[in-house]
Amino acid sequence: MESYQVTQWGQPLRRVRSATPTPAGTEVLVRVSACGVCHSDVHIRDGCYDMGFGKSIELEKIGIHLPLTMGHEIVGTVAAKGPDADAHATGGAPVVVYPWIGCGHCRHCLRGAELDCETPRSLGTRQAGGYSDHVLVPHARYALPYEGIDPLVAASAACSGLTAYSALKKIPPCSPEDVVVVIGAGGLGLAALGLIRKLTPARVVVVDANPAKLQFARPLADAVLDIADAAAPRALRDLADGGAAAVVDFVGLPQTFEWGLAALRKGGSLIEVGLFGGGVALSVPLLPMRNLKIMGSYVGSLAEFKELLTLLREPGVTTVPVLPRPMSEINEIFEEIRQGQVAGRVMAVV
Ligand SMILES: [Zn+2]
Ligand SMILES: [Zn+2]
Repeated sequence: MESYQVTQWGQPLRRVRSATPTPAGTEVLVRVSACGVCHSDVHIRDGCYDMGFGKSIELEKIGIHLPLTMGHEIVGTVAAKGPDADAHATGGAPVVVYPWIGCGHCRHCLRGAELDCETPRSLGTRQAGGYSDHVLVPHARYALPYEGIDPLVAASAACSGLTAYSALKKIPPCSPEDVVVVIGAGGLGLAALGLIRKLTPARVVVVDANPAKLQFARPLADAVLDIADAAAPRALRDLADGGAAAVVDFVGLPQTFEWGLAALRKGGSLIEVGLFGGGVALSVPLLPMRNLKIMGSYVGSLAEFKELLTLLREPGVTTVPVLPRPMSEINEIFEEIRQGQVAGRVMAVV
């Protein structure tokens, strides 16, 4: 099989030929037809995350090793299955892959909370992912049918869609008078805007620094605000009658965190999703005095993925716009994403 691998941190991916694996036990071999290109892969390729205050996490130290085939928004067909794999995974069956896989035997995995597993085996980070023509999936339960959904949309659901969906589910109950702010109108933000009307009756305000992205988001929102505009916080307070009930930050920069926290009304929730990196100084008494909640949201569970696939079959539900490109252009795609040129989700097609 042919894969695009990180062989040196920070360097372009290399096309590598290797033997196609044979599935054993419960494993399923999926022939990849397309794999979404996630912004987090740009960080993973660089080998570290900026944790703020001059600190960074080196991925080698948290169990991510080279060579690595990244890619975690995988759609394809079942090529072969191990003798113990579930019957639904018959040869040729179209499947979308859930990549956020746990070890399977720790206390978190055993209670169905794989996302909290301390030794995850996620596809595309901890083991080979979808920038390849084949991928080995440990168990057929992670290879799901998606009939009724466009294949590229189904693929994007595995990360951008699921991350957006799980974050939106953390918004507290709202009324139509409330305002929910979505920070970031990139891939994740647009995925969220396609789903948000199904999950909250609140009005939706989108905040970004890029006028072109705001223009893209405008038809999906009740209002858009430019984070660089000094008048934007005041405009939000006026719109929201004091402040937002919830802010979902899909960017994750110090600036967006601080903007989001300041935008909340008393009792509001800040849901942090983005992984751009950095740190902030926080006034600790602010949290109890304003009764605020800050929480993180990382991708989503297998159960949420199944819910999302059901939701995507409903009329009027959209997700991030998908932009198919040949997988052979993977390094050019990475550069375009790094430079913030992509409005939507690039799908690398085999
Ligand atoms: Zn991703
Ligand atoms: Zn585990």
